[in-house]
Amino acid sequence: MKWGLVGASTIASEHVIAAIRAQGHEVASVLSGDAGRGADYAARHGIPASVTDLDALLASADIGAVYISTTNEKHHPQALTAIAAGKHVLCEKPLAMTVADAAEMARAAAARGVVFATNHHLRNAGAHLAIRALIAEGRIGRVLSVRVFHAVHLPPHLQGWRINDAGAGGGVIPDITVHDADTVRFYLDEDPVEVVAIAGVSGMGAGVEDSVMSVWSMPSGAMVQTHESFTHPFAGSGVEVHGAEGSIFGRGIMTQKPVGELELVDATGRRAVPFDTHDLYARSLGRFAEAVAGRGRPSADGVDGVKSLAVAMAVREAARTGRAVRVDYEGF
Ligand code: NDP
Repeated sequence: MKWGLVGASTIASEHVIAAIRAQGHEVASVLSGDAGRGADYAARHGIPASVTDLDALLASADIGAVYISTTNEKHHPQALTAIAAGKHVLCEKPLAMTVADAAEMARAAAARGVVFATNHHLRNAGAHLAIRALIAEGRIGRVLSVRVFHAVHLPPHLQGWRINDAGAGGGVIPDITVHDADTVRFYLDEDPVEVVAIAGVSGMGAGVEDSVMSVWSMPSGAMVQTHESFTHPFAGSGVEVHGAEGSIFGRGIMTQKPVGELELVDATGRRAVPFDTHDLYARSLGRFAEAVAGRGRPSADGVDGVKSLAVAMAVREAARTGRAVRVDYEGF
């Protein structure tokens, strides 16, 4: 399959171009808003064409799928245009600026009969697949609580729109809380019901939040606590899942790389849990390719992207108002 890149982005250059090529697929063209930047990006990454007009990219009949990784406010119009042109779409998180827009994208793809997926990389990681499997196998019994530690230090080359441009979808909530929402949904197979939160600026954000802590209730009665930040150089990331019969401890696993450590603790003691160390993005692209071929679903589909955004937007609303907010999934 041939792909068009919608956006000359860092994430495409660092992970997704290689993941597309790992499927034996080709990156045929890249869209940039700036002709010079697009041409330079294409040359650096061995992409045969660059364009500044989305319709020009979509007009190429041999492009079967597009990967959208522009800034967040562009995802909605670009995805709707690509879907209308009959292309399969892998879109970056957050799917859109509002849950209603994201829901429109998922519904448009279903109506057009194209594959529409969200690039939530974490659920493709061996560590997170192992946690989900331990829970599903009943190894920790009934889940009582989940704690997610996802306070990182945003590297200098990413300290742009994410920390100062609300109009482009900046802020740690649309950037990282969406991933944590998806990961917890993936572990527990249930959707958060209600959230409370406090957000703030702890040194990097200008006009958008750079740190947030939130607590979510789940239909099963489990409680979830999360911490996301751009400003913590030495905190390290992690997850704890506590059940009535055991606890899972993950350290260094909220990351783009297949690294970290997992331990299971129960009445018989404490032991390390091994996990696969495949590339997260290659697995995401592989599942997407299988779905295009009619075999299975993408690892995170459009509805998953709607739901992760719905949780994140509820967290932002709860932080803004100081009240508990019920998550609105727009009918999904
Ligand atoms: P970048 O800032 O690298 O790229 C976003 C846009 O910024 C590009 O489309 C490009 O516009 C523009 N741009 C890039 N470089 C320059 C420059 N030097 N001067 C002016 N404009 C520039 O974004 P990221 O790659 O960090 O993120 C893109 C998307 O991917 C976001 O939606 C983000 O949330 C998501 N993401 C997802 C991750 C995941 O693991 N799932 C990880 C990281 C990001 P143009 O295309 O017009 O050239």
